[in-house]
Amino acid sequence: MTTKSVLVILLSVFVFSCNKSDDSDPVANLSDSGSISGENYVVPSEAYLFDANLELYNFTPTLEDKINRAIEVIKLVVATEEFKRQVLNHTYAGRRTYVDNGGYSNSQIYQIIMDGAEKLQPVKNHAIDAEVEAYTNLNSNTVGYTYADSKRIWVNTKYYDRYSAAGVAQNVFHEWLHKLGFKHAASYTPSRDYSVPYAIGDMIGEIGKNFL
Ligand SMILES: [Zn+2]
Repeated sequence: MTTKSVLVILLSVFVFSCNKSDDSDPVANLSDSGSISGENYVVPSEAYLFDANLELYNFTPTLEDKINRAIEVIKLVVATEEFKRQVLNHTYAGRRTYVDNGGYSNSQIYQIIMDGAEKLQPVKNHAIDAEVEAYTNLNSNTVGYTYADSKRIWVNTKYYDRYSAAGVAQNVFHEWLHKLGFKHAASYTPSRDYSVPYAIGDMIGEIGKNFL
């Protein structure tokens, strides 16, 4: 075994590798779920300030244009009452919660998103702060991945090239939720779709289709 392969194995322990979700759509069911009477879905002022500061690496002009449009989609979605309603009303196993919620309630998770304080850049600036590096691996079903100790997100052009801006928005937001400290199972399980990165990333993608 080479030194390099040992390093790869060690690093892989800490990687959040994010595969394509299956085509089932838990968000669609949530749209029909009843909300708690009296819940306040008025969007806070932070939602309108929400922004993104991305440093892009290895992006072609075409892909740069797409991720910039994806950021605009994210900003539009985050400013909707519908997004707040879906984040607050997400359920798993009959309870208003997420899988791997880090001990936070749904409303606390919404506030963590509004704050935008990444674990490695813990300033509440209401913004996505990240480095995003494009790479190409046609033999992988990983859309994107990141490491807990890195500000960088790696994204696979195999998927980004064919995704709509809403699809890119979904994945960028998913990866950024890792930067906020949220995790999910490394391998697919049915419950993984209810984790914070998958569930809320999917909300961004689904609501975002309205803004294409
Ligand atoms: Zn992930």
